[in-house]
Amino acid sequence: PPAVSERPTRIRVQLEHLTFNLRNIRSHVGVPVMAIVKANAYGHGLVPVALHLQAQGVEQLGVAFVEEGIALRQAGVTVPILVLGGIFGPQVAQFITHDLEITVSSLDKLRQAEAAAEAVGRKAVIHLKVDTGMERIGVHSYSAKPFIEAALASRWCVVKGIYSHLACADDPASPMTLLQLERFLEACAHIERAGAPMPIRHLANSGGVLHFPQTHLDMVRPGIVLYGVLPDPAARATVAVKPALSLVSKVVYFKVVKAGNPVSYGATWAPSHDTRVVTVPIGYGDGFPRALSSRGDVLVRGQRYPIVGRICMDQFMVDIDHDSAWNEDEVVLIGAQGGERITAEAVAQAAGTIPYEILVGLNDRIPREYV
Ligand code: PLP
Repeated sequence: PPAVSERPTRIRVQLEHLTFNLRNIRSHVGVPVMAIVKANAYGHGLVPVALHLQAQGVEQLGVAFVEEGIALRQAGVTVPILVLGGIFGPQVAQFITHDLEITVSSLDKLRQAEAAAEAVGRKAVIHLKVDTGMERIGVHSYSAKPFIEAALASRWCVVKGIYSHLACADDPASPMTLLQLERFLEACAHIERAGAPMPIRHLANSGGVLHFPQTHLDMVRPGIVLYGVLPDPAARATVAVKPALSLVSKVVYFKVVKAGNPVSYGATWAPSHDTRVVTVPIGYGDGFPRALSSRGDVLVRGQRYPIVGRICMDQFMVDIDHDSAWNEDEVVLIGAQGGERITAEAVAQAAGTIPYEILVGLNDRIPREYV
């Protein structure tokens, strides 16, 4: 950990909750799991999370960028790793030398992967990316046949998987998901018709895992639900999961603010009566969203209190009214204290965003501890 490890602010990751979530997801889907650990494992810490999941026997890991894959290899992660983000020409050889599986999303990229594999002298392991409605990366399912046939015929690429990404699976009522599944299976049918063995078909993100059993196919790719957080307020918790991340800090200052005296930048909030205000040493410079200014809550001594005034880069203030709090009392920003809990979902809602952005936004200025 960096030199800030005495910092009163920290992220606490409960690894046994990851174990619990992985086990429950596994038994719900009945197929292997590709655990998605991109973006610093959704803020939980890339390497410790990956090593833990590897120890739990996860079949595969998924990251967004080659740099994330290389960091995992350098940390001793040996399970198969797929880089979901596709390839950028100048980086292709790095995938092969670090034993990272490549997402191939067009005929051009297939040729790039082949050329790099030939230059390195080792076959590239690839997953074909089919676009079934996301319009991000991938060959359109309706024109995928020549692409799939070229990949199957490749001398330098081994097709280990074929996949697509769901755009609306966090909404159980969206008709988009079954349409995407149908398009995906049509693309897979080209492989069958070519008489080639079917590679691993994977489609389901967390929404697919939770709401659409038809999309589970040969492997699933959960991200957020693995961390115990639901992808959307409309999502149904069809799998029991526990949030793995808590964000905690401590009271570092206590004072009485007189009625009418404004608090923080812009003087946007002032108490109507003399009140007790404490200062908490974390701010938007850590990734705690400024959008929570006068909107979010925290827990102190098992009670919920409002954040008042603007969140600063490194600190914010909390109105504890007539109650008492002392320097070094624990403050919970995400997590449980006493009988109360603040979820990442609730923080996201208060900040006008999604829990993904809250979690991945928590940056490396905050020390992480694993319990
Ligand atoms: N698969 C791909 C290709 C992704 O880009 C992502 C994340 O966005 C996931 C799976 C995991 O998504 P989620 O966190 O919603 O489960």
